[in-house]
Amino acid sequence: MPEEKDASNAAPLQMIDLIRKMRDGHALDEREIGFIVDGAAKESIPIEQLSAWLMAAWMNGLSIEETRALAIAMRDSGEKLDSSHLGKPAVDKHSTGGVGDKTTFLVAPLAAACGVAVPMISGRALGHTGGTLDKLDSIPGFRSALSLAEFETIVRQCGVAIVSQTPTLVPADRVLYALRDRTGTVEDPGLICASILSKKLAAGLRALVLDVKTGSGAFLRRREDAEFLAALMVATAESAGTRTVALMTDMSQPLGRTAGNWIEIAECVDLLRGDDSSDNADLRELSLRLAGWMIHLGGQTETAELGYTAAARALADGTGLKVFLEMIKAQGGDTSVFDDLKAFHKPGATLVLESWDTGYISEMDTMELGWAVQRLGAGRIRAGEPVDPHAGIEFHARRGAHLQKGQPFATLYATSEAMLAEPVARIKNSVTFSSEVPQEVPLVSRIFTRENAESYLRDAVR
Ligand code: URA
Repeated sequence: MPEEKDASNAAPLQMIDLIRKMRDGHALDEREIGFIVDGAAKESIPIEQLSAWLMAAWMNGLSIEETRALAIAMRDSGEKLDSSHLGKPAVDKHSTGGVGDKTTFLVAPLAAACGVAVPMISGRALGHTGGTLDKLDSIPGFRSALSLAEFETIVRQCGVAIVSQTPTLVPADRVLYALRDRTGTVEDPGLICASILSKKLAAGLRALVLDVKTGSGAFLRRREDAEFLAALMVATAESAGTRTVALMTDMSQPLGRTAGNWIEIAECVDLLRGDDSSDNADLRELSLRLAGWMIHLGGQTETAELGYTAAARALADGTGLKVFLEMIKAQGGDTSVFDDLKAFHKPGATLVLESWDTGYISEMDTMELGWAVQRLGAGRIRAGEPVDPHAGIEFHARRGAHLQKGQPFATLYATSEAMLAEPVARIKNSVTFSSEVPQEVPLVSRIFTRENAESYLRDAVR
């Protein structure tokens, strides 16, 4: 049973006491949270005790103070990047997670092309959502587990690098992130906030742009929960000295036309090469909005709107693509796979799913669609197992489209024929057809800044 080995006069801490305290709804103090984080990072607390604590935290919720203490302790659980060596303002973006949520592959190189440094520590598939690192791993040779020195060198060289948590870089999040995925403890504002900010604050950022998803594919589906998370993250990051904004964005349908691993990378490379199809206009627009804020908060433009214009220019003139390819190469990736995006895609089984009804697509249960993507082989059932780089779904119709029975709705790519049945059933259960055109949902519905986040939180907890 782990016991605190602390030289102070305070009584040593026991994990079992902290589990019981959390279970019974009492607040933990900084020292107690620090003890748990330290034990997670060093893997000295047994997994069953960490799991029990996570479930107690999920059931009772963490207070704002506990969340701040958890984020800071997790940030400090490993090495940190000294961004003053990068020679440019360090700025990053992080999303709370969605389906087809691939803006990173556009936003990061576009912002870097416009003069900021983007040292990005990212994650793998979590729950029903895809993982940035799993998508990047579909590129042969790509390495995300870099040392701090390699991470810094590549950011200096290319303006951007995307790396994983490691045993030395935010190790507490590495352990807790994977454990939350397996224990049904992902969807909690405090745990999400601490997980995201630990990674972002460890990168020594000057500024951070958060993409907080709302709607049927978000971890926090209720609008008020997603707003609370946005305000909580802005206030917590600002109190740690990082200029932060959060955009509340639509996840009532998958973003863009693909959800999976390689197919998401390919969709982004197409966009970076100038593809301007209408079926992923949402992905392009959101990426430019997020990059615009990064460029502005990084001091490169007077306003976020001017940042948007700069990002759009970097997209149109190919400098975003150039930065993307340089980063992939610097991290060991074989860029020849981009020569023919379709030829590289070799799924084990393919199925065109025809529409099973006629009408307007009025609702999508995007979380269910996300689970369908994971079950095709794009995600993992057990921690640590490999994912299929070629699995995923390409959508041929969006919310609001009118389909006739028999028209193609989506193409499914699976590891094997046997893995198609469950996702097909999930998809059919998650789409609603109607005779009425559904109401449009705005892509960005609200923005939280340091000016409105604190007051929102005060009203929310009153
Ligand atoms: N992204 C993270 O890094 N952590 C979470 O908990 C959710 C999304």
